Amino acid sequence: MSKMPGATWRPTPVNFTRGGQSSVRGVVLHIMAGTLAGTDSWFKNPAAEASSHFGTGKSGALYQWVSTADKAWAQAGGNPNWLSIENEGQGGDALTNAQLDRCAEVLAWAHKTHGVLLQVTSDPNGRGLGHHAMGGSAWGGHTACPGTRIVAQKAEIVARAKALVNGKPTPPKPTTPPKPTQNWTEILVNALPTLTKGCEKNAALKHDIKTAFKLLDARGFPVPEGVDDQTFGEPMAIQVRALQKFKGLKADAVIGKDTWEALH
Ligand SMILES: [Zn+2]
Repeated sequence: MSKMPGATWRPTPVNFTRGGQSSVRGVVLHIMAGTLAGTDSWFKNPAAEASSHFGTGKSGALYQWVSTADKAWAQAGGNPNWLSIENEGQGGDALTNAQLDRCAEVLAWAHKTHGVLLQVTSDPNGRGLGHHAMGGSAWGGHTACPGTRIVAQKAEIVARAKALVNGKPTPPKPTTPPKPTQNWTEILVNALPTLTKGCEKNAALKHDIKTAFKLLDARGFPVPEGVDDQTFGEPMAIQVRALQKFKGLKADAVIGKDTWEALH
């Protein structure tokens, strides 16, 4: 519970106090004034006498050097009650979009694990997301850490952490319009091909021409005896036009959807 899933565990053997973390008030932002790699090796050097629980890289890396059950040495008098995040960059830098995400993830995790409130604070006796300079001389007098641009980003980090904790609003599922109920004739008709004069050249349509022949006959528009019932010639076209006129359709001798329906 004191190692954050998703953070790369880079434990330092020195520069922290085992246990010693009493009730957690919040998370404190810092600026490395250097690189993630440089800070990673510096925290493992006993001469540093400094460490942080977490560290972000500009391109989105997230390191954890100290368990949150232990006290990192990040902000002097603020160490017993605050977790810490060092951020790659120089004084005056703003956090990158990826760093904002990593800080939000740490804050969201600290909320779930340590009950840290998802709010901005600038009070060393307050709770939430703070920054190093707010602790004044009691916290080492680092008035330029992490810099005004990052301080101005605290609200954005809190907003992103809230989105992580509360779940991002999911877009409403597209409602599929109900399919109009079709009767059997419509289903049948939709499956039938369009027949036109001469379409028997496509042998696959001969069966459908024969069907149309039978239906014309059944509707009282018989094709004369002796005409091949698998050929859509003029004799059949005459009867199709007659049926279409009778049904108030366009008399074009094309057996499409409407004419098939009339035939059925
Ligand atoms: Zn700092």
